[in-house]
Amino acid sequence: MYDAIVIGVGGMGSATLYHLARSGCSVLGLERYGIPHAYGSSHGSTRIIRLAYSEGPEYVPLLRAAYRYWRDLEGISGRAILHKTGGLDIGPEGSWTVEGSRASCVEHGLEFEELAGKEVNSRFPGYRLPSGMRAIHQPDGGYVLSEVAIAAYASAALGLGANVVTDVVVRGWTRHSAGFRVDTTTGEFEAKRLVITAGAWVGNLVPALRQICTAERQVMLWTDPLSPARFEPGRFPVFNMESPLGRFYGFPSHRAEGFKIGKYYHLKQRVDDPDHLARECRPEDEAVLREGIEEYFPLANGATRKMAVCMFTNSPDGHFILDRCPGESDVFVAAGFSGHGFKFCSVIGKVMAQFCLDSPPTWDLQRFSLTRGRTNGW
Ligand SMILES: Cc1cc2nc3c(=O)[nH]c(=O)nc-3n(C[C@H](O)[C@H](O)[C@H](O)COP(=O)(O)OP(=O)(O)OC[C@H]3O[C@@H](n4cnc5c(N)ncnc54)[C@H](O)[C@@H]3O)c2cc1C
Repeated sequence: MYDAIVIGVGGMGSATLYHLARSGCSVLGLERYGIPHAYGSSHGSTRIIRLAYSEGPEYVPLLRAAYRYWRDLEGISGRAILHKTGGLDIGPEGSWTVEGSRASCVEHGLEFEELAGKEVNSRFPGYRLPSGMRAIHQPDGGYVLSEVAIAAYASAALGLGANVVTDVVVRGWTRHSAGFRVDTTTGEFEAKRLVITAGAWVGNLVPALRQICTAERQVMLWTDPLSPARFEPGRFPVFNMESPLGRFYGFPSHRAEGFKIGKYYHLKQRVDDPDHLARECRPEDEAVLREGIEEYFPLANGATRKMAVCMFTNSPDGHFILDRCPGESDVFVAAGFSGHGFKFCSVIGKVMAQFCLDSPPTWDLQRFSLTRGRTNGW
């Protein structure tokens, strides 16, 4: 019997597997696809990381730790995973994005600069912001290589003695006297404790979350910039932008892969069953993203390199769920990352390991407890 089984070895699961193995646990990871893969929430090469956090200053201590753990992973794996480019949080004066980003910087003493739209354009000439826009520039912003990170965590965990089984679907789990029995398409496995990091599929394994965590279809687009030099990582900060056309985010051209852009809540398409996600990209998917490029990044408006479909798993308030499963003292769940979780994988792996080992939590996790649902009516 294992000390722990981690169900789902994607972003959160691979980091959890590593942190558990590093603590000396006997641990098994079960993954329905390969590691990494392009069917969940963590593919598409890059994910933004930023300290200036519009979503709430309470995330900043976790973010600081996430940066440290990403650097540790680089040391262990010998791979460059976290790339700093600086980050811009953009929006009209008084917008949620600008106000929230500034509040995080002020509360946590982060280095930042506030720029008018025109100042952004002259300093970072890939941008064409209207004069009414403002931006918080924070030098620690950048991106994490998501698939590289998942592979690095899984391989580091294996090196520490963890076991991993891929291409196996967990059908369910049940409690028995000494722990839990996990039923899969290739047989049963047993453990004293479980960690469920199943992303968009979490409702299949934690029925109490079926109505709470909802998957949503998203699309990423990579273009050939018309002026490539302006979109190189050294000259183009990552961005998170609230605009009259919607909320966009984007990246410089990492290793000449192309300028990458996405839009939060893309076409607002809920995914009832992630196994039946519409994975093909359509002209209307591209149109939504081209609109943002034409308006704010005209020199990135070249040919399409590629597009990819991915899933958010939204919680009702947009904040993470890191807790015990309802009614189970020895089953833990990390879910509902609502489109902004990847940057935290490195620290959430540690959080889940601490849960599993009954270690006192290093961070204040009140904000992420499921009990908030009771006061908020879900
Ligand atoms: C387009 C897009 C852009 C994003 N941009 C950013 C960004 O810039 N910055 C940021 O911080 N975050 C971003 N996010 C969010 C971030 O990527 C997610 O929060 C994060 O990847 C979630 O990780 P996860 O481990 O929960 O899910 P996943 O990585 O999908 O892992 C879940 C794993 O569980 C496995 N699994 C599920 N069910 C079973 C089962 N029954 N049996 C076995 N295995 C199972 C799945 O196969 C999968 O591998 C973005 C998300 C998308 C879709």
